[in-house]
Amino acid sequence: MNGCVFCKIVAREAPAEILHSTESVMAFRDANPQAPTHLLIVPKEHIDSIDGLSDAHADLLAHMFQAANHLAKTEGLEEGWRLVSNVGPAGGQTVYHLHFHLLGGRRMTWPPG
Ligand code: AMP
Ligand code: ZN
Repeated sequence: MNGCVFCKIVAREAPAEILHSTESVMAFRDANPQAPTHLLIVPKEHIDSIDGLSDAHADLLAHMFQAANHLAKTEGLEEGWRLVSNVGPAGGQTVYHLHFHLLGGRRMTWPPG
């Protein structure tokens, strides 16, 4: 999508530390990390948020969760980790290209802010 920073990263037109790339999914480090490990897992296809998902995205979602499991292992997060997706302004979403935040390497608190 025009002007979307995550589409630009997927197209390798914007810089990012890319850790994982498959046919449908890419993962890279968050530019403003909130934990020792803070990765973003994105679909290569532009989807605004979870709100834009349909039945047609079932396989894509499975691949995003598989990427999360794989990256939690390669990042050494045996103690646990957190997967978050913010939706819309009240959910704290700032980039409107679907992404999972994979956070770990410190003890997470609840409730989140
Ligand atoms: P959210 O606020 O849930 O939409 O998350 C967007 C995330 O994208 C934030 O954690 C930002 O730090 C991160 N971010 C924004 N631009 C970039 C970028 N160019 N490269 C890596 N991370 C980014
Ligand atoms: Zn996009």
